[in-house]
Amino acid sequence: MATVYLNGAFLPLEEARIPVLDRGFIFGDGVYEVIPVYDRQPFRLRHHLDRLQHSLDGIRLANPLAPAEWETLIGRIVAEAEWLDQGVYLQVTRGPAPRDHAFPKTVRPTVFVMATALKTPSAELVSGGVAAITAADNRWLNCDLKTTSLLANVLLRQLAVDAGCAETLLIRDGFLSEGATSNIFMVKDGVVLAPPKSNLMLPGITYDVVLELAAAEGLPHAVRPIAEAELRAADEVWLTSSTKEITAVVTLDGQAVGSGRPGPVFKRMHAAYQAFKHRIMRGQDG
Ligand code: PMP
Repeated sequence: MATVYLNGAFLPLEEARIPVLDRGFIFGDGVYEVIPVYDRQPFRLRHHLDRLQHSLDGIRLANPLAPAEWETLIGRIVAEAEWLDQGVYLQVTRGPAPRDHAFPKTVRPTVFVMATALKTPSAELVSGGVAAITAADNRWLNCDLKTTSLLANVLLRQLAVDAGCAETLLIRDGFLSEGATSNIFMVKDGVVLAPPKSNLMLPGITYDVVLELAAAEGLPHAVRPIAEAELRAADEVWLTSSTKEITAVVTLDGQAVGSGRPGPVFKRMHAAYQAFKHRIMRGQDG
């Protein structure tokens, strides 16, 4: 039984309980992170903790722990988990309080951390790619905050599942924002393109790594708005996230993307990402 952390205690997942008036339950009033762990080494932990701080600032909730305290806490969860590769999920809510939209006068934040087994994309997924659909991005205008208020993302992602697809790519005002649970890249004429960070997308940790690797590999790349028509005419489309790493999208709304197979630039980036991960495992980069 996996050990989790809840408000100062380490206990089995089945014994972890929160009060029903927790604002995370009542309002989705909280933020979270998902940190991949390879061979018990958290990947880009500092970047995840920085993004957690950005999300907390965005919802005006004081960080209950200092960075070093988070590191110790996550280190213990990772050490006690049974798997070498893990996904560490952490959540901070504005805690229990009588139901009222306004912030409670005294905030007792709820802090929850757990590890689960990390299932990285299978060889079949890497070589075959996935199907995706598009939908209008009907989320709020603070998509840079990683909040637990995920109902819009849940409904958008379910559209993909209902269509037998892996992801929903979101279009707002004629431009690509991101996926329901991932960031999106495209390739045209050998140039890797990504939408710029803004309030309309989550600043993905994997997105940053992929752009760093594009620079390190000498791949032509540009960060600029991507019109829907450009996306539909892409040679390659990729999705990135901490759990899906980098995965090729080979059909979009039933139409083949480029050749309908993962493309050559994807293969190069995928190999670079795997090599980067292995350097992390050997402790050569954070
Ligand atoms: N956008 C959304 C909406 C997401 O849920 C995720 C996954 N957390 C991402 C992008 C990718 O972010 P990361 O690379 O940090 O996992």
